Amino acid sequence: MRIVMIGSGYVGLVSGACFADFGHEVVCVDKDEGKIAKLREGGIPIFEPGLDALVAKNVAAGRLSFTTDLAGPVGEADVVFIGVGTPTRRGDGHADLSYVYGAAREIASALKKFTVIVTKSTVPVGTGDEVERIVRETNPAADFAVASNPEFLREGAAIEDFKRPDRIVVGIEDERARGPMEQVYRPLYLNKSPVLFTRRRTSELIKYAANAFLALKITFINEIADLCEKVGADVQEVSRGIGLDNRIGSKFLHAGPGYGGSCFPKDTLALVKTAQDHDSPLRLIETTVAVNDQRKRAMARKVTAAMGGDVRGRTIGVLGLTFKPNTDDMREAPAISIVQALTDAGAKVRAYDPEGMEAAKPLLGDIDYAESAYQAAEGADALVLVTEWDAFRALDLKRLRDRMANPLLVDLRNVYSPAEARAAGLDYVGIGRPDAEH
Ligand code: NAD
Repeated sequence: MRIVMIGSGYVGLVSGACFADFGHEVVCVDKDEGKIAKLREGGIPIFEPGLDALVAKNVAAGRLSFTTDLAGPVGEADVVFIGVGTPTRRGDGHADLSYVYGAAREIASALKKFTVIVTKSTVPVGTGDEVERIVRETNPAADFAVASNPEFLREGAAIEDFKRPDRIVVGIEDERARGPMEQVYRPLYLNKSPVLFTRRRTSELIKYAANAFLALKITFINEIADLCEKVGADVQEVSRGIGLDNRIGSKFLHAGPGYGGSCFPKDTLALVKTAQDHDSPLRLIETTVAVNDQRKRAMARKVTAAMGGDVRGRTIGVLGLTFKPNTDDMREAPAISIVQALTDAGAKVRAYDPEGMEAAKPLLGDIDYAESAYQAAEGADALVLVTEWDAFRALDLKRLRDRMANPLLVDLRNVYSPAEARAAGLDYVGIGRPDAEH
C-alpha cells in the first residue's frame, strides 16, 4: 500500500515508521521544515526508544521517506492519514481543529484517484463529517472516503504499542474504506490483534472515552492517596488490594502528582466541552479535570510543607521533568506547575532530567540544570522526585544524602520506601503513605 502520513510528530513519525516496517511504502509529511531536514539527514526530532533504528532501517530499505511537499505523494496514495496536532483551543477548551481542517483542504486539492483519508489525530465526534464536507467543497470531483482510526500508543513504549496493540479501532461510513484499512493493518490481523470496525462517530468517541476513563482512574487513586495520608493508610497497598480484582485491574492505579502529557489534559477538557455542547454533561470528567488541575500546585504546597512552610532562598533539587519517563515530551508536565510554584515562592530550583531538559528550558524560566541526579542534590535543602525514570530507581541514597545540605527526599512517585530512605539517613515524604512505615 502507498501510505502518506500528514504530520510527523510523536504519532505520525512512529506510525509512519511502523507502517513502513510492515512493508508499506510510506511518505511522512510535515510542514515544519526543520523537522523534515533533520529526518532527511538521519536525525530524529523527538526522543522515543527504538525509533532511530526503526526509521534508519526503513529509510535504508527504501520504504520510508520525508517531505514538506504534500501534493505529490498524496496524489499517488491509497491511504492518507492525518496525524497533526489537536491541542486545546485557546480560550474555550475545545480541541483546536485548525491543523486537521488545514490538512484536509491541502489533501483535497492533491487527490487524483480513489483515496481513503483517515483521521489518526484525536478528534471530537463529528470531525470526520466535517473533513468529508471540506474535501468535497474544496475538490467536488474528488473520489474519496473518510475513516477514523484513533491512535492509542503511549509515548515511551510507542513502537511496541503500535506493533502489538490491545486493539485497533476503525470507524467507517463508506464500505469502500474497509478493504484498504484491512490491508494497512494486515500484519496485525495476522498477529491476531483485535480489530474493531465500527461507525465513524463511535470510533471518534471511543478514543476520548478511553482517555477520560484512564484519567479518571488516576485521579481516583490520587484522591484515595490524599485520604490515606489523613487516616494512616498506605495507598500502595490499597492499589494492590483493589488492582488484583479483575474488574478493576492494576494499571493506572499509581498515585502521583497528577496526570499531564500531550493527551489526557487536552482530551478530557475537549470531551467535557463536547458533552456540554450536546447538553449531556459528563460530571465525572468535569470533576476529574478540576481535581487534577488543583493537584499539580498542591504538590508544590506539599514540598513547602515538608520543608517547614517556607522555601524562600532555599535550594530544591528536582529529579525528572517530563510528564512521564522515556520521552522528552514536556507538554502539560506536572513539573511545570510544581517548579513554577516553588520558584514563585522564592526557591532556587536545580533540575535534572535524562532526556527532557532541552524541551523544558523554554517552559521553566530561570532555574539551574544539573548533569546528574547527584549533582542536583549538591547542597540542596530538599530533593523532589517528580518523574520516575529508571535512572532514578536505584540511586545511592546515602551518596545523595551526603551531598545535601538538608536530607529531605520528597518522592512524588513512591519510587522508594520510607524505610529504605530512612535507613540512608533521609527524611522521607511520599504520596499517600503513613509516616511510620514498616
Ligand atoms: P505533534 O505536535 O508531535 O505532531 C504534530 C505534527 O503535525 C507537527 O510536527 C506539525 O508540524 C505537523 N503539522 C501540523 N499541521 C500540518 C499540516 N497541515 N501538514 C503537515 N504537517 C502538519 O503531535 P502528536 O503528539 O504526534 O499528536 C498528534 C495527534 O495524535 C493529536 O491529535 C494527539 O492527540 C494524537 N495522539 C497523540 C499521542 C501521543 O502520545 N503523543 C497518542 C495518541 C494520539
